[in-house]
Amino acid sequence: MTSTALPGHPHIAYRHNELFVEDVRVSDLAQAHGTPLFVYSTASMREALAAYQRGFAGRKLHICYAMKANSSLAMLQFFARQGCGFDIVSGGELERVLAAGGDPAKVIFSGVGKTRAEMRQALQAGILCFNVESEAELEVLSEVATAAGRTAPVSIRVNPNVDPKTHPYISTGLKGNKFGVAHERTLAAYQRAAALPGLRVVGIDFHIGSQITEATPYLDATDRLLDLVEAIEAAGIPIHHIDFGGGLGINYNGDTPPAADALWQQLLAKIDARGFGDRQFMIEPGRSLVGNAGLCVTEVLYLKPGEEKNFCIVDAAMNDLPRPAMYQAFHAIVPLQAPTGVAAAVYDVVGPVCESGDWIGRDRSLAVQPGDRLAVLSAGAYCMSMSSNYNTRGRAAEILVDGALAHLIRTRETAQDTFRQEILLP
Ligand SMILES: *Cc1c(COP(=O)(O)O)cnc(C)c1O
Repeated sequence: MTSTALPGHPHIAYRHNELFVEDVRVSDLAQAHGTPLFVYSTASMREALAAYQRGFAGRKLHICYAMKANSSLAMLQFFARQGCGFDIVSGGELERVLAAGGDPAKVIFSGVGKTRAEMRQALQAGILCFNVESEAELEVLSEVATAAGRTAPVSIRVNPNVDPKTHPYISTGLKGNKFGVAHERTLAAYQRAAALPGLRVVGIDFHIGSQITEATPYLDATDRLLDLVEAIEAAGIPIHHIDFGGGLGINYNGDTPPAADALWQQLLAKIDARGFGDRQFMIEPGRSLVGNAGLCVTEVLYLKPGEEKNFCIVDAAMNDLPRPAMYQAFHAIVPLQAPTGVAAAVYDVVGPVCESGDWIGRDRSLAVQPGDRLAVLSAGAYCMSMSSNYNTRGRAAEILVDGALAHLIRTRETAQDTFRQEILLP
């Protein structure tokens, strides 16, 4: 059988001119479940995870999947079954972990605005670590833990002030960002944490940004982090684990991020040289585990030729695929069936939402007609988890493919679902 995998997507391939995810024909899924429809490949997620595991072979490593990238329950269940923990950023995400059968003892809790209620909830569940993002949070967490008769395990998120060279909205490790404790303040913050009755210092962490496509920011941040570990331990506060965050990029549009295993071999060489090679390590990858495992199937509704632009209007929109509107992000768009006899034209691919920001791809050459289906690639991360009901559009359905099996993991949301919480006036 002729099978041509899409570049950078080994488990998405044309077989006899029909798009497959693993051994499942995508048009069959669209036929059965309608569009827009997210389809994910387990093989792709397994391989992405394995690359990290290879990079850290022989080391003490705990992988916390940063679940905000895609928090659908079956996706969490998949990662829990692979032995992963989770990096959460809200009490709601903790509830998702528990609902998916994840182990709270493998959960770390990040975020600059944890509420007291969320702290209590996480202490109750017995999470592995609070990744604290400010000195003020240390005080509140200690208070909450003391009142609950517990001690909170803490790591302080350091803002190492390195430029991750990514989109400003997903850069988090620069001085001007809201995240973490400034490098210069970190030692003092650890001394305070060690003195507070409700806290137990267990680690240190950074997370410098997202969609990082170079090794240099990680190398620089690691050097700065290890300087701090030395200073903190010299002050008599042992650091049990070192957490390097997430942020590794994926190939959306010819991007060339380092492979996870190569990156970590390079970083571990530095970590070894500085004498920290036998520590307990943690990482918090999100996008790099799921981003290129997913695509979104959409149907062409109308073609609208114009003087300046041709529009290809599809049934997926910014509420399903928010990244172009939010970050001017690029997603490759390919047909489910190789085109036959239709002339290609250059289109802006747009959704039905009443916003000019509702575009999915610009200036794309496509040979399509109404009724054809397209696949929006690299849609596994920060799409469904960021989706909304704007324009009273129900969220899409989701399928998780494993070989020839296609598991429906989310049914399509109905209009009634979207207004279930609303109350009419008396
Ligand atoms: C979002 C986030 C991650 C994951 O980032 P990716 O770019 O998806 O790998 C990791 N850690 C923290 C604290 C985050 O907020």
